[in-house]
Amino acid sequence: MSRRSDNKLRQSINVLERMLLTTPDTNTVLLRCLTQLMTLLDADFGCVFLCRDIQGDRIPWELIGCYRKAGQVLTEVENSSTCPAVPVRLQSKLVAGRCINSKEHKDVSPPTLNISSEIHNFFCIPLTDSQRLYAVVYLCNTPEALPENTENRLRPFFAAANCLLRTSHRRTFQSAFQGQSALDRPERLLELLDSLFNTVLLVDESDTIILCNQAAAAMLGLPRRDLFGLPLAKFLPKGIPYLSSRISLRELDKASDPHGKTTWRGVPALSASGNKMLVDLNAFEISLAGKNYRGLVIDDISERMQSATDYHVVLQRLQALTNLAPIAILQLNQHWECIYTNDTWCEYCQMTIDETMGFGWLNGLHLNDSNQFLDQVRNDTAHLGKYQGELRLQSPLGKITWVKASACCLYSEVGESIGIIMTFSDITDHLNNERRLQELAEKDQLTGLINRAFFNDRVNIALKGVNRFGSVALMFLDLDEFKQINDTFGHDVGDELLREMANRLRDTLREVDTIARIGGDEFTVLLTNVQKTRSITTIADKLIRTLAKPFTHNKRPIYVTCSIGIAVADQETMEARQLIKQADSALYKAKRAGRNQYKFYTEELDQRADLHIHLRHSLKDRERKDFRVVYQPQVDARTTEIVGFEVLARWKRPDIDTIDTGECIKMIEESGLIGEFSEWLFQEVFSYIGKWIKTILKLGVTFSINLSAKQLHDENLANNIYYQCTLHNIPPKAIILEVTETALIEDPRIATQSLNSLNQMGFGIALDDFGTGYSSLHYLRKMPFQCVKVDRSFVKDVTHEMEDAEIVSAILNLAETLKLNVIAEGVDNDDVKKWLIKHNCPFHQGFLYHKPLEAKEVSHFFDSYSQEDNDIKVEI
Ligand code: C2E
Ligand code: CA
Ligand code: CA
Repeated sequence: MSRRSDNKLRQSINVLERMLLTTPDTNTVLLRCLTQLMTLLDADFGCVFLCRDIQGDRIPWELIGCYRKAGQVLTEVENSSTCPAVPVRLQSKLVAGRCINSKEHKDVSPPTLNISSEIHNFFCIPLTDSQRLYAVVYLCNTPEALPENTENRLRPFFAAANCLLRTSHRRTFQSAFQGQSALDRPERLLELLDSLFNTVLLVDESDTIILCNQAAAAMLGLPRRDLFGLPLAKFLPKGIPYLSSRISLRELDKASDPHGKTTWRGVPALSASGNKMLVDLNAFEISLAGKNYRGLVIDDISERMQSATDYHVVLQRLQALTNLAPIAILQLNQHWECIYTNDTWCEYCQMTIDETMGFGWLNGLHLNDSNQFLDQVRNDTAHLGKYQGELRLQSPLGKITWVKASACCLYSEVGESIGIIMTFSDITDHLNNERRLQELAEKDQLTGLINRAFFNDRVNIALKGVNRFGSVALMFLDLDEFKQINDTFGHDVGDELLREMANRLRDTLREVDTIARIGGDEFTVLLTNVQKTRSITTIADKLIRTLAKPFTHNKRPIYVTCSIGIAVADQETMEARQLIKQADSALYKAKRAGRNQYKFYTEELDQRADLHIHLRHSLKDRERKDFRVVYQPQVDARTTEIVGFEVLARWKRPDIDTIDTGECIKMIEESGLIGEFSEWLFQEVFSYIGKWIKTILKLGVTFSINLSAKQLHDENLANNIYYQCTLHNIPPKAIILEVTETALIEDPRIATQSLNSLNQMGFGIALDDFGTGYSSLHYLRKMPFQCVKVDRSFVKDVTHEMEDAEIVSAILNLAETLKLNVIAEGVDNDDVKKWLIKHNCPFHQGFLYHKPLEAKEVSHFFDSYSQEDNDIKVEI
């Protein structure tokens, strides 16, 4: 509703109200209503009909006036018309005070008017006090769409119009009786009475109806002529002074009411059809043709009374509801003073209703929340008409209730803000539930420690404070062999043990340290404000000791140890993820170093982790494009002739050119892909050897291939290699398999089986890196070796390290005794070569002779021999 139209409405109502001060007749009032409505609703034409009475299904209407808009001015148009019959259903609508829009009732055309222009829409407005239809105003050619709330908006206007119409009638009526001339002629009197909306009856001294107007006939429910001669007592209760016209009103006044009462309110009445009514009575005396009569003006107030009762019921219902509702309610006036509240408010704030009234309610708001709340409500209701938010209410004793508050504005009929209704619902439980949910999201349900996501948050927060509060240390703990406990004792015991571990961690660490369970048997600890590495190691030692204490199950001790990786951050730029990853690499190092210990993260570990990721990537590629094979010649140093080749793998990464192959092989083993990898390697190598095989056999050279520990423990190893050889027509004697001593000891039984099988199939077996491991004679004797390889670490210093020289001499003697061939690795200078030859070790492998060769180069080498003879028989 716009302010402009409100002003216009206000002005129109003023116009009507001012008329109350003068004494206008009904027609003037109706014409004024018409012109005001035309202005308000912007109509081009308008007319108003007076409704004389309701009789049967017809309303005889009389045209009072007709106006047309000429520019901005309204001018009266000469017209004479009576209204055509209006369908009953519309009449009842009009009587009920409902406006009729041409849009909803296309069939109702306005009365035939003498207007030249076409009428394309109209609006039909009844002037009624809900029991009587006074008049109907027709507005034509209003703007196409009248807003939906027009009827409601005009309500104050109709109220003023009704009031004015009633008064104008009463005045007309009274003035009629003051002029003697009107009373001279009974027809004139009847005409006058009929023009009234009020019900009027005249009774004689025996209280028999001798005259009544149309309105009385309508109210009492009988045609006028049937009413004449009926006793008034048929309709109104007997024995009440107003009935007895034998008592003069003046006497009556004196007798019953010293103030001259001629009015009775709320008198029960009955219509001819038995319809019960409540009426107000106004008695007067009149003398007609020299005789005195009693006159009664009767007003049916049933509906008004009913609505008053309804109002009372609604009010009570509302009151009951507001008190029963589990929400606190406040009504404030436009000055923010409380004018209504309910029991729940009193309960939340422990205040009485009296204490709440006025500005008292403000004491119920929590001190810390009230300013912001009031600002927000003021702001939101002014702009949006409503508010929603959360705040705390408090009682004088400090009981706090978290509430969700809603507020909305109340408006008067003319759209002025007249206050605010506020409701407050208790959300304390809801917030508690939310907190519980949050806890569920943050906590590990088994141990009650915080979980991974929340731990990450904590780490990030701690990292932001590194510059101010000192370094942060992160420990990554993992129980050793926890899987075995689960497998042996069942998951319940496993869970029990994890809970116990969590308790021990809690007991050992301080309150300020953050402990989390971030996976199955993985725990993390965050230590902040760490001053010295020393203090970290003290804690780590303590943890290892505490966790290693046996755990009792069914009175039996179960021993579990743990490994810890530690990473320290002393810069704010570090991220949680990174720090956790570092601690994880350190943990890995601790596990590899034999478990039940802690290790610190170093940068080198990081590189290793990086390499791991890249290597995994390379291994995923089935074609192994990142890998190749090289062949390092083994020579007879006396003649420098090549007697064999050692097959060596190479991982070529575009960004790094030097990767230690030994390290790389270890990583492939750790990643569990060594089986697939060596399968590829064998295929690659055997396909070349297959091509060169004739020459190989002719020259009697061998190919040495390294086997890793994991491969040795594969029961199918021997068969697989043999099968590959047959595929390429390679006799096993051309192949020597190199194993290290350390690879043998993990599970000597299977290793021995594999080697024996290989040996029986005709493959040569060499013991690699001899001298670096256990150098156990036992293995040398038990296993089917034909050759030992002296490790490069002894060979390279053999000329200037006495100890190394002695070791190599001892190995050479031993080999001689056991009738084993010997190859010295890593011969890279002449002195070493000479020393070895002198000590009866002629077979060498080293950079002095050859660096590892590409397959292409080996091909050239064999090509130069293959020309000579082509018919060498291949035996397998
Ligand atoms: P290894 O079996 O002892 O191999 C000999 C290593 O000594 C090779 O290193 C070779 O390049 C190096 N070498 C030989 N002569 C000299 C020299 O005069 N000076 C220097 N500085 N080094 C020399 P590489 O190729 O890096 O291999 C390292 C280790 O990786 C090997 O030690 C072997 O244990 C493992 N390895 C290499 N390829 C394979 C493979 O295909 N399978 C398996 N299981 N292990 C392999
Ligand atoms: Ca080797
Ligand atoms: Ca070696």
